[in-house]
Amino acid sequence: MLKLVKLSPRAYMVQGDPLPEIRENAGFIVSARGAVIVDTTKTLADAQSLYRHVRAVTDKPVAYVINTHAHIDHVFGNQLFPAPVVAHVKTGETMGAMVAGEWSPGGLPRVIEQYERPEDMVGLRIVLPQILFGEALTLDMGDLTVKVIRVGGHSPGSSIVFVPEERTVFLGDLLCVGRYPLLFWANEYGSVEEWLAALKHIKGLGAKRFVPGHGPLSTLKEVKAIESYFLDLKERVLRLAGQGLSREEIVAHPSFPKYAEIAYDRLHPLNIGVAYDQLVKKNDE
Ligand SMILES: [Zn+2]
Repeated sequence: MLKLVKLSPRAYMVQGDPLPEIRENAGFIVSARGAVIVDTTKTLADAQSLYRHVRAVTDKPVAYVINTHAHIDHVFGNQLFPAPVVAHVKTGETMGAMVAGEWSPGGLPRVIEQYERPEDMVGLRIVLPQILFGEALTLDMGDLTVKVIRVGGHSPGSSIVFVPEERTVFLGDLLCVGRYPLLFWANEYGSVEEWLAALKHIKGLGAKRFVPGHGPLSTLKEVKAIESYFLDLKERVLRLAGQGLSREEIVAHPSFPKYAEIAYDRLHPLNIGVAYDQLVKKNDE
């Protein structure tokens, strides 16, 4: 069951189930010119639940849907919303490439089968973003502005959605709370350096409410915690590489004890490997 969390007079978070895994969040903003949906969840059943939450709050039309990035759990519900989908040009490209392959009509049944509740995805059709932007896009919604800003880090097209009037920012998977962040997906990599730069930018927005891609509503404290994860990752990889350890030895090095509590620890060694490739291997070439 998706839970509705009111953030401010005009901004809402729709929180994914915490169990058995920390499921994806979505959100929406209610403006004079209609509702703006931020991410559309992984299954049609969840997207319907998201839509019901929107309808319980407002009868205004949906003006836009924004995809913060191209990953399944943030875009598969696009088809339910009768509005143009906005995304960074790289997100559009990634989704387009997926539709030509794994997400093609012939490939989708296999993708759906892999999920715990395939019945929640019956009738799935991938809707690609139609409004693509370069670095940033500002939507003038009459009584408020919705700024979509590409920051990268988690994926090449990863973008945040900032509503200055509500002091609220939706971070997509730039922020995951209670589970490890992810530096790669399909054939695509994020970037440790861009992620750190993105978090610096996010800290400077003057926002009060930070909506993570996964996990509960957050404050600056959680943003700083994920920043310290990446700072620790970078410092450790560079230090161990400086001591002459190989990629394999660094990846197998015991994980950071202070992050032992968080879920999906299988992602951590994979993140170490990506960090090594970006921070060490690149310097050797
Ligand atoms: Zn996600």
